[in-house]
Amino acid sequence: MPLVTSRAILEASLEAFRAGRPFAVGAYNVNNMEQMQGIMRAAKETNSPVIVQVSRGALKYAEDKYLRNIIMAGVELNPEVPIAVHLDHGNNLEAVKRAIDLGFTSVMIDGSLLEDGKTPSDFAYNVRVTSEVVKYAHDRGVSVEGELGTLGGIEDGVGSGKAHLTDPDQAVEFVERTGVDALAISIGTSHGAFKFKGEPKISFEVIKRCRELLPNTALVSHGSSSVPAELIEEINRYGGKLEHAKGVPIEVLQQAIAYGINKINVDTDIRLAATAATRKFLAEHPEKFDQRDYAGAAREAIAREIAARMRAFGTAGRAPEVKPLGLEEMKARYARG
Ligand SMILES: [Zn+2]
Repeated sequence: MPLVTSRAILEASLEAFRAGRPFAVGAYNVNNMEQMQGIMRAAKETNSPVIVQVSRGALKYAEDKYLRNIIMAGVELNPEVPIAVHLDHGNNLEAVKRAIDLGFTSVMIDGSLLEDGKTPSDFAYNVRVTSEVVKYAHDRGVSVEGELGTLGGIEDGVGSGKAHLTDPDQAVEFVERTGVDALAISIGTSHGAFKFKGEPKISFEVIKRCRELLPNTALVSHGSSSVPAELIEEINRYGGKLEHAKGVPIEVLQQAIAYGINKINVDTDIRLAATAATRKFLAEHPEKFDQRDYAGAAREAIAREIAARMRAFGTAGRAPEVKPLGLEEMKARYARG
């Protein structure tokens, strides 16, 4: 399958939910070649559709085109995997235009925050910037994710650090006024590796209400890495120092999927898997200095970790359920209204 829109994958997820066999697609952040290869290996091995997402920080690090070409190499080499390429936390129309010019099939506009990516905005601002992006993106067949409510935590410089749960009734108004394909809702998760002081408190009620009120809109959970204890232990055993790191347990994410979450963002777990594998490799092989050795070990660890997520989220085996809706097909569909 060629590159698809995220709408294509998310529609398969919405359909599966209606049929009583829900799954969520993982959206995994990519910054370099080894991460992309690890993600593609996992998708291929588990026969999963996948959303590969890129933050503004990642584009800056990789000078846009290095990353674009690495990702497109992954698309080209894996024609059997339905892949959408998505901009994570776009902060204005300019960022969205750049991503679309690079060939992305999906964008997020996070109007829950002002352009600085830190200051919470108001509803009117959010509706205005999101609508503007939807118009521009849909004219080109590109899927759009908006966000309503704010998450706790900060990652890649994004986040106000203050959590504010999504109001389901307001979500309905937001979707009607903007026309987004997907909506990131705040349900109590948090960005980064230090999500919770005590036990995580996730509001399944917010998911349930949003799902009832918005049966055709994909619901997205950000800040949803699990921060596995064994990875933290491994990092610390080999010289790292991560204290009080805590994520959203897999069982909680599975419950969120059962209530109607369609897309789950995972970034921190990829970082942790790569760091643990690199530290372990270098500690066990002090004589080695070829970057391919430890980057290769990190790549293996990423593939393992993501394959486990794909199985846990029910994405494994779902590639055949995704219809080949690319930019042209979606452009025609949006034009029909
Ligand atoms: Zn996010």
